[in-house]
Amino acid sequence: MILDRFPQLKGLILDMDGVLWHDNEPIGDLAKIFADITELGLKVVLATNNATKLPEDYALKLSKFHVDFPREHILSSSETTAIYLANTLQPGSRVYVVGSSSLSAVLKKSGFELANVEEFKHADAVVVGLDTHITHEKIANAALLIRAGARFVATNTDATYPTPQGLYPGAGVMVAAVQTASGQVPEVIGKPFTAMYKEALLRLGTINSETMGVGDRLETDIAGAQNAGCLAGAVLTGVCTELEAQTWAPTPDLIARDLDTLING
Ligand SMILES: [Mg+2]
Repeated sequence: MILDRFPQLKGLILDMDGVLWHDNEPIGDLAKIFADITELGLKVVLATNNATKLPEDYALKLSKFHVDFPREHILSSSETTAIYLANTLQPGSRVYVVGSSSLSAVLKKSGFELANVEEFKHADAVVVGLDTHITHEKIANAALLIRAGARFVATNTDATYPTPQGLYPGAGVMVAAVQTASGQVPEVIGKPFTAMYKEALLRLGTINSETMGVGDRLETDIAGAQNAGCLAGAVLTGVCTELEAQTWAPTPDLIARDLDTLING
């Protein structure tokens, strides 16, 4: 059991894809796993780099697997981007979005004015995330605004994401396009950067040394946990192999076959 090895542990920051499920297939008995976590007295925040879905979408998905999970403890990179901007820009600041409609909705809900293509001559920030309708015009607008002084913020820089057809281009592709066109390096919110971990720790009410970040991707989940000073737990139900996890430097604090084994093994 995890507390035998890490008696200081009070909170978990769990990745979702590849940890809790593959698409619509749960990985193990999620209702039992969450009940076990609660029984151990551990608090949980779910954190994903995916900026195209809302926390309520994930809460609904969990309910289909018989897990009743509060949406306030679910963080996506889009929501974290909005929180980050709200902390660093004036209310009502103008933001130009290259990203999904849900990213725009989250930013609008947070009180930002969204710049449209016709009035792109000034914005306070350009936010770039996964955009399946990216165009040359959007990249041009984003680059011109950044060159005119707008801050350049990226939800995440994941190169790809898995689909049944294979790996599709991720947000990192759009970010790279704007980065190349603008000549500027973005501030990145998602894992492996620390903004999402800082927000997760606030919501957990724990400090980094008593919190473990758990995920299946070494370059984001494990590197992010380590960058944030958290314990790092790798599970082998997603993209990384056991050998890759063992040879990652620094080695994750825990490597487990799956989340159930990580908690109970
Ligand atoms: Mg994952």
